[in-house]
Amino acid sequence: MEYRTLGNTGLRLSVLGFGAAPLGNEYGNLAATEGEGAVHAAIDHGINFFDTSPYYGRTLSEERLGAALSGKRDKVVLCTKCGRYDKELFDFSASRVTASIDESLRRLRTDHVDMFIAHDIEFGDREQVVNEAIPAMRKLQATGKARFIGISGLPLKLLAEVAERTQMDFVLSYCHYNLMIRDLDRLLTPVAAANHIGLVNASPLHMGMLTPAGAPMWHPAPPSVKEAAAKIVQLCESRGVDVTTLALRFCLDYPHVASTLAGMSSPTEVEQNLKAFDFRVDPKLLSDIEIILAPVKDRTWDSGRQQNEVTGQQSNKGVAR
Ligand code: NAD
Repeated sequence: MEYRTLGNTGLRLSVLGFGAAPLGNEYGNLAATEGEGAVHAAIDHGINFFDTSPYYGRTLSEERLGAALSGKRDKVVLCTKCGRYDKELFDFSASRVTASIDESLRRLRTDHVDMFIAHDIEFGDREQVVNEAIPAMRKLQATGKARFIGISGLPLKLLAEVAERTQMDFVLSYCHYNLMIRDLDRLLTPVAAANHIGLVNASPLHMGMLTPAGAPMWHPAPPSVKEAAAKIVQLCESRGVDVTTLALRFCLDYPHVASTLAGMSSPTEVEQNLKAFDFRVDPKLLSDIEIILAPVKDRTWDSGRQQNEVTGQQSNKGVAR
């Protein structure tokens, strides 16, 4: 396993991180033993970065991850979130953020998390996020309950603006740098680099789209993007290439992020994803993929409150998962 440093934090993250959204049944019902097996297989192979949220499975992911990490807490860099609790339930008040970490620590069976994130900030009141949630998170950092703090969400310009304004330790972005899309490189990476803010790149499979099973029902991408992804999956199949391996390798090759965070549901998926480290990308296959992607280049979807839209950005209106 290869490790990279997250911004100025000094945290060393495995370049492939373990996303625990599937542990909360976000991608279909998962047997607890499969999820636990996935966590243990990941640790055995040197994956040390684990990300969860009270939102995933409405606390189920944290509960399961906490149980799976029992006796192994010191081997991992543990990340959880606050502010998002259900599809439409957000609370970025100082009091909720402060209570939230204690609830998470109890479920995760630990006395601190290494990384603590304000989850999907585009759904909150921007000024409340900046003036209440983040100062409350800094106070928690001072108590040692959270070692470093960050923000996550979909709209890149909002993440860039808030991160720069508040001098975040790190930002978690998803569905903005992978085989389907690259605009992270234009809209957030330069700001993060200039301000020494760490970057985590989540959803290398575009939230399950770049898999043989395809996008889950709830996936918010426009049909044109789903159709392009299905063509890419087919193309890979016809060339005898596993699309998930190619998609992960593509993200691992992006040097500006400390870690690529992939959701993993079973020991088999962990083993499969580790194959990306020995995989060589065929440039001809990549250029054929570019042709499929051209009509949907950097196409994303609406997420969050319209008033959080940052000038010049795609609209943020609508709801995400
Ligand atoms: P992803 O792109 O990693 O896709 C996950 C899906 O792909 C799951 O269904 C998983 O079982 C499946 N999969 C993984 N490896 C596979 C393989 N080898 N073969 C077949 N299927 C495979 O999407 P994700 O899980 O949403 O993102 C990764 C993690 O990043 C999440 O679990 C979460 O921890 C984090 N995340 C955070 C935010 C946020 O903070 N707003 C948003 C998205 C993701």
